[in-house]
Formats: sequence, structure tokens, C-alpha cells
Amino acid sequence: MTNPFDLRGKVAAVTGANTGIGQAIALTLAEAGADVALVGRTAAEDTAGQVRAAGRRALIVDADLSTTVDVASIVERTVGELGRLDILVNNAGIIRRNDALEFTEEDWDAVVDTNLKSLFFLSQAAARHMVEQGGGKIINIASLLSFQGGIRVASYTASKSGVAGLTKLLANEWAAKGINVNAIAPGYIATNNTAALQADEARNRQILERIPAGRWGEPSDLGGAALFLASSASDYVHGHILTVDGGWMAR
Ligand code: NAP
Repeated sequence: MTNPFDLRGKVAAVTGANTGIGQAIALTLAEAGADVALVGRTAAEDTAGQVRAAGRRALIVDADLSTTVDVASIVERTVGELGRLDILVNNAGIIRRNDALEFTEEDWDAVVDTNLKSLFFLSQAAARHMVEQGGGKIINIASLLSFQGGIRVASYTASKSGVAGLTKLLANEWAAKGINVNAIAPGYIATNNTAALQADEARNRQILERIPAGRWGEPSDLGGAALFLASSASDYVHGHILTVDGGWMAR
């Protein structure tokens, strides 16, 4: 029987792959056989070394996703140098914290532009290529704040709720074109993004008390979900938002 999780011959692009969740997903896809374009504003040298150590090609693509100016060139460079683009993982994201009464337009625009606007236009650029190629997989990194309100993170909640909505819209438009669009909603994962929460003793305790698994997630905990959604195992899965949260949403 052929292995539905085998990604040999496939090319993936992962945004924000120098650290955290993006790095872990890039490595999982490489270990499953994919060559990987590592897209971001910080060169993912360490990730590239690990992808190459797994026997796959790695391409570092310099791109600032706080604007859409680099979006078309990300797809062009990936296809030009790695030959195709089968899997896009929209992982790059930022968060800003402030009371809603004090929240600034700068903190609104920075987060929404990076987490939502660039995600849409990079997906559009990738999908134009995937349609010509005959199909592909797009995986958006959502959040528990795609479902819940959160507190003091107005632009983050707006952006991640938007990511959930867009995942479903794009799935509706592109499923018949052979493109699967799905999302992963990570729970509380130990990365730079959550360093402030981990360091806050009281918040850390409250968070752990609500997680049935009883621990923070590790970036590598996201690998299996990403591989599933990147592989032919998920060919009939469209518009799904898969929580990987130690059970948080079940509580
Ligand atoms: P992280 O360690 O802070 O990684 C974020 C990545 O996004 C980094 O590679 C970062 O690059 C990149 N990035 C940020 N702004 C960028 C820009 N303008 N252009 C290009 N790349 C940019 O955090 P993480 O936790 O792994 O986050 C990855 C994704 O998971 C984000 O979308 C986040 O919202 C989501 N998420 C995380 C959690 C969690 O608990 N950690 C939970 C739910 C969702 P630099 O290193 O150059 O900044």
C-alpha cells in the first residue's frame, strides 16, 4: 500500500520558519520527503541546515510579510528554484497586547496586515500557481482566538477570527480546483510568541489548570496535524480548523 503521508517529490513553502511552530512544521514536512522554501524576514539558516540534514533541499526566501510587496516573488522564487509549489503553510504571525480602550491604530494595522492581509494575498499568489499545476494544499495557522475572544489582544483576535473565516471561504472557492484549504488552531505552545505568558506565574498557573493534557504544547506537537493536512491523507478535508490544544477547547 502506498503511504498517504509520503511527501517525496513535493515542495512546501513555510512562512516564519526560523523559529517556533514554523520551524517545527518545516522540519516535519522535510522528514516526510518535501523540499522546503523557508520564508521570512529573518534568514532561517538553522532550519535550512536541519532540512538539508534530513536529505531535502532548503531555499531561504527573504520576505517581510508586514506588507504584501514580497508576496508574488515568494511564489516565483520557490517555483523558479525548487520547480513547483504544492504546499503553503501560512504560519508567520505577531501579537500586540493592550487594553481595548488604549489600543492604537499602529498595533491594529501591524497585526492585521501580517496575520491576515499577507496570508490572503500569499494564498492567492500560491493558488494561482496551484490551479495551473492541478492542485495543492494550503494550511493556515489560526489560534484558539479564532473561536474565543481573548483579552487585551484586539487586533490578534480580529486577525485570527478572520483567518478562520478566510480558511472556509477559500475552501469553498478552491476545493473544486483541487486545492485543500484548512487551518490548525494551536493551543498554548511554548514559543517566543507566548514568552510573556509563560513568564507570568499567575497566568501560567491558570493556563495549565485548564489544559486537560496538563502541559504547554511544544512546537513539535503541531507536526502531525500539519503533515496530515499537507498530505494526500486529507484530500477530502476542506475548510476544517483542527485544534491542537491539549484538550483546551473540550473544557
Ligand atoms: P514565534 O516564535 O514568534 O514565530 C513567529 C514567526 O513569524 C517568526 O518566524 C517571525 O519571524 C515570523 N514573522 C513575524 N512577523 C513577520 C514578518 N513581518 N515577515 C515575515 N515573518 C514574520 O511564534 P510562534 O508561536 O511560533 O507563532 C507561529 C504562528 O502560530 C503565529 O501565526 C501565531 O499567531 C500562531 N499561534 C501561536 C500560538 C502559541 O501558543 N505559540 C498559539 C496559537 C497560534 P522573526 O523571527 O523574524 O520575528
